[in-house]
Amino acid sequence: MTHEATSSLVVAGAVLEHLYRGAAWTEGPVWLAESHRIRFSDIPNDRILEFDAASGSTSVFRRSVGYANGRTLDRSGRVVECSHGRRAVELADRDGTPRTIVDRWENHRFNSPNDVVVASDGAVWFTDPPYGIHSSGREGYPGEPEYEGCFVFRHDPATGTTRPVITDMTHPNGLAFSPDESVLYVADSGRLWIDDGPHHVRRYRVSGAEVGEGEVFAVVEHGVPDGMRVDEHGRLWVAAADGVHVLRPDGTPAGFVPVPEVVGNLCFGGPDGHDLYITASTSLYRIRTTTRSA
Ligand code: MG
Repeated sequence: MTHEATSSLVVAGAVLEHLYRGAAWTEGPVWLAESHRIRFSDIPNDRILEFDAASGSTSVFRRSVGYANGRTLDRSGRVVECSHGRRAVELADRDGTPRTIVDRWENHRFNSPNDVVVASDGAVWFTDPPYGIHSSGREGYPGEPEYEGCFVFRHDPATGTTRPVITDMTHPNGLAFSPDESVLYVADSGRLWIDDGPHHVRRYRVSGAEVGEGEVFAVVEHGVPDGMRVDEHGRLWVAAADGVHVLRPDGTPAGFVPVPEVVGNLCFGGPDGHDLYITASTSLYRIRTTTRSA
């Protein structure tokens, strides 16, 4: 199956490759440079998959993983990932064994950490919507919130301190820093559960650990915004129901990559970093771009 991208952000003639189908809901892709693999989550099936770029095959990396969701790399290339089931952000050892980075704020457990980024100072920033504690048990274990709201948190491993940095969103989801880390973009997927809920990306000024006032940066019309990545030119690549929307730092549209399934997340990868990997519903896709991760 091929779908033509309408954007100069992809290499001329590039087509969307369908690499894998067979998941219930894919999320959390990250490129592992050492093994040339994309590791990603299949949340409802409670497993982590890996796509091997050399062979083109996808296999199960681990099962019964605590409903892993978003993931990223820390500054030393270790995998940091969100666990709905343990309501935690964790460090995955080489074999995938999780170790807790943070699983509570004061005496409250989190709702279900969804997505995570690590800043250049080593601080771990993550979103905490309630999708993993829903009574359906589809993406985690049914549970109750232990604080009022859904915040974005910053955890400083150096001091062990954790504090909410954004408290004015409905259901914060994907997040990404601008290349100089002066701006934090956070997707609000509130409309997923609430008919008139937000379906936009907010932008916050950041200085070190301090976060300023937020504003709406872009509205996603198709579905809700989910995972996001920033490229080397500061453009924001946003997962949505109809594909990946790319926005310049001033908010104007830079391009669009249509995807035939609802997109949950994306990441840059490949040996030179120019391959965009897209987790979308049951599948993993790839398209060759003219840019790379920030
Ligand atoms: Mg997400």
